[in-house]
Amino acid sequence: MVRFLILKFENTWVDLVPTKIVAVGRNYRAHAQEMGSAVPEIPTFFLKPPSSLIGDTGVVVLPAASQRVDHEVELAVVMKDRCRKVSAPEALRFILGYTVFIDVTARDLQAEAKKKGLSWAISKGFDTFAPIGPNIVSKEEIDPRDLDIWLKVNGIYRQHGTTRDMLFSVNELISHISNIMTLEPMDVVATGTPEGIGPMVDGDVVEAGIEGIGVLTVTVQRDR
Ligand code: MG
Repeated sequence: MVRFLILKFENTWVDLVPTKIVAVGRNYRAHAQEMGSAVPEIPTFFLKPPSSLIGDTGVVVLPAASQRVDHEVELAVVMKDRCRKVSAPEALRFILGYTVFIDVTARDLQAEAKKKGLSWAISKGFDTFAPIGPNIVSKEEIDPRDLDIWLKVNGIYRQHGTTRDMLFSVNELISHISNIMTLEPMDVVATGTPEGIGPMVDGDVVEAGIEGIGVLTVTVQRDR
């Protein structure tokens, strides 16, 4: 069952019911370095389930199975039209707009999966692990190539970068992904996080912002 999630778009509201959330990894050099990972030569990505979505003012629930759950602030692209095998220069035509996304990650479970060569589906896929919003800004309004992107925990900056540092541009990512899987209307593509990822704990208030879009605020609770 997909959660009911509405985001403001221009003067109306959009029902955000994606068929998938595609999340790009290692798209900022400094983040790849802080993770001890090589910079990829072609984009790398994984899927998060739509059941992990929550909206602005929502609650991120820390699962009992993890002792360390991290924030990753990311620029997210929301698709407008079905998009299959497009080139980078064509990609913009298929985009509705941009929003703020937090790729919540159970870091200890991810580290264990990496070590054992297992899937990231668990560490990335718990319910509430995909906060998004508060609004979608039209692709006509902003240029995703040079935006301030930041995240604060309890009012203190933890991440602060610029989308200028992306290794692969939004258009290159959409092209690459669409050559593998068809992107459907309202599908979400999260474009990777800048450096500064770190843990969230019970009671934290997390604000994530992108210049020209807005601020997404969530609170954090341990599973009770
Ligand atoms: Mg990420």
